[in-house]
This record gives sequence, C-alpha cells and structure tokens, in this order.
Amino acid sequence: MTVRVPGKINLQLSVGPLRKDGFHELATIYQAVDLCDDVRLTATPGVPLSITVTGADADQVPTSTDNLAARAVRSVAALVGVEPEVAIGITKVLPVAAGMAGGSADAAAALMAADVLWDARLGRVELSRLAAELGSDVPFLLHGGTAVGTGRGEVLTPALSRGSFNWVFAVAAGGLSTPAVYGELDRLRGSDSVANPEVSVAVLTALAAGDAAALGAALVNELMPAAFALRPQLRQLLDFGTEAGALGATVCGSGPTCAFLVSDEGAGLDLAVALTATGLCRTVRRAAGPVVGAALVEAVGVR
Ligand code: ATP
Repeated sequence: MTVRVPGKINLQLSVGPLRKDGFHELATIYQAVDLCDDVRLTATPGVPLSITVTGADADQVPTSTDNLAARAVRSVAALVGVEPEVAIGITKVLPVAAGMAGGSADAAAALMAADVLWDARLGRVELSRLAAELGSDVPFLLHGGTAVGTGRGEVLTPALSRGSFNWVFAVAAGGLSTPAVYGELDRLRGSDSVANPEVSVAVLTALAAGDAAALGAALVNELMPAAFALRPQLRQLLDFGTEAGALGATVCGSGPTCAFLVSDEGAGLDLAVALTATGLCRTVRRAAGPVVGAALVEAVGVR
C-alpha cells in the first residue's frame, strides 16, 4: 500500500527553555503543504525489511535501519507481534535535511501504511503515541491541516484556517542539522533566562480570517538568528524574496529552506523565477497549504 504525506512549514516557531530531557519547550503553528513524499509498503514474507529510496535527494537518505520509515514500521510490527518482513519504497519530493520534516513525514506515512498492512487498527491515539516516540514533528504529519504544537511540538490542537495560502520554497544548498541549529541558539542565548513560549495570536487571527498579508507580517521563527549564524547567505535569500514582493518570509524549521508567502499562483511563479536567478538556492518549489496529513492513496489486497 502507498501512503502520501505532505511536508510542513512552521508559521510560528517560538523556542522556550531547554528542558531536562534535552528538548526545548516550543510554541509552534504548523501548516501542511502540498509537497509530498510517497511511502509504499509491500509484504515480503520470510524476507527481512528492506528499503529503497528514489526521487529528489535520494542519495542523502539512509537506507539503513536508521531510516525513520523503517523505525516506524518496526514499532508497529513490535506492537502487533509480527516480523517486519516488508519492502519499503520511498519516493522523495521533500528536500532532505531542509527543515520541512521529510524524515518525520516518511515516518508518519510508514506508521499509517503498516497499520493498514497488518490490519492493526491502532487508531488515532495509539498512532499519535507511536509517532511522538519517533520524533516531535511526526504526530503533525499524521494529522495535517493547520495545528498548534506545544510541548516539544508533539502536543497538537487543530487551528482554524480559512482558504488556501500560496508558498514559494527556496532550498538553500547543503543541509542544516536540527540539533546543531538548536545548539547554536543555546550558545547565542548564553545564560539569559528564557520565558515559556506563547502561541501567536497574530498568526491564529490571520489564519482564521484567511488574510495572507496579515499572515505574512506575523510569521515568526526564533531559530532564525541561529540559522543565520551558521549559514549567513540565508539572510540574503530572505531579504531578496521580501524585496521581490513576498507578503512574508521565514525559515522553515531549522532551515536552510526559506519560505515566502505570496498573494496568488502568478506572484509565486514570478518570485520562483527571480529566486532561481539569484543562484543562492539549489532548488525552488511552489506549494499551497493547508492540505491533509498522511493519507492512503493505494491499497492492494487489503482486507
Ligand atoms: P528535522 O525533522 O530534524 O527538522 P529536517 O526536516 O531538517 O529534519 P529531514 O529531511 O527530516 O530534515 O532529514 C534529517 C535527517 O534525517 C537526514 O539528514 C537523514 O539522514 C535522516 N533521515 C532518516 N530517515 C529519513 C527519511 N525517510 N527521509 C529523509 N531523511 C531521513
């Protein structure tokens, strides 16, 4: 069976104090966008788990047991009490190590596919629990749409959002490691005391009104200073997009992808062409959000 899963953007990413478990307390607002990976599971009775990755950036995705989709399949197999004898095929569209949660998305898709394959009927609550064990963003990629994330991002509350928003994503060359960016933020903050983060009322109000201009002005990502410190060209890229007419600009998660909110598809096309011409990014993609989370698109031989 094949599950299609979107990537995400953080419309707000506010980072609170470092917790005892090594994670930071977050207040985030996620939106799922229609750049999607496909994760296909095929039962291979008697043959151990294997993994094949095709598509964009495939060479940067581990095909070892570390692959998040493989970990997801093993976690469902362990719960059901079966051997994880499956072939996993991932078709990547989401850029790797780019802040769009591609690995987490594949994990969410693999959880859903394994649930169907083994007729486990785990349900939303149990799937979300397994998802949170795999990573902070994984529950949201199961959920999709628009949601507030608290805790380390895994505690979700759906958020009201009207209409559709148009995005241009400029993927800067080279990945950025999420732990490295959080580490740099801690270094920049030094011994300053950090308040608990609060969910942005400005972002929620703009979403509920379907007001792209207000949303553009309200975008916030507190990891940006750390991402800029590690990758100074990102600031240049954001400035360029803003001067070229974007309604708002932010860095996706821990970067290095930069996201630009535009008024419509035409403005998106113009901005995509202009960003490509800068030579500052390895690829430019257009997408819209919100879209649904992980969803079954093909199921053969399912009871
Ligand atoms: P994060 O979710 O940590 O913010 P990201 O969105 O920046 O990460 P990902 O595309 O998830 O980036 O890749 C982060 C790392 O996860 C990669 O460098 C890769 O080694 C590893 N990884 C494991 N499984 C996958 C997968 N299925 N797809 C992509 N990357 C994976």
